Amino acid sequence: MHNLALEREWESEHELMDVTPRCPKCGSAHIEARNLARRFGGAIGAIAGTTSGAALALAGAEVGLVAGPLGAVLGGVAGVVIEAIVGGAAGCAAGSRLGDAIDRNILHNRQCGACGYRFSDKS
Ligand SMILES: [Zn+2]
Repeated sequence: MHNLALEREWESEHELMDVTPRCPKCGSAHIEARNLARRFGGAIGAIAGTTSGAALALAGAEVGLVAGPLGAVLGGVAGVVIEAIVGGAAGCAAGSRLGDAIDRNILHNRQCGACGYRFSDKS
């Protein structure tokens, strides 16, 4: 079920790369992708991922405090930085992916550069 969904998504992305989108109103090939939700999702995901990653690392530092003050300082600082970076990157990727799906399925993601007509990829 999950694998099938991923394959279908890959196929639709592959199609988008091969087929030049054209405006359904005037037929112009000068089409711009707006990707509003994708950008928004990436930013939100990065913030959420960084915050949750840092929170996890801080919880780990509290455990380290019981084990020893030196370990808490060293482990805590390194842990916060690493967890925040990993969490931010993962959150950004997840948010971008989610936003991309929203762009393609819900919003009118394409805009014609010739006449300004907005339409979705699936139309
Ligand atoms: Zn047009």
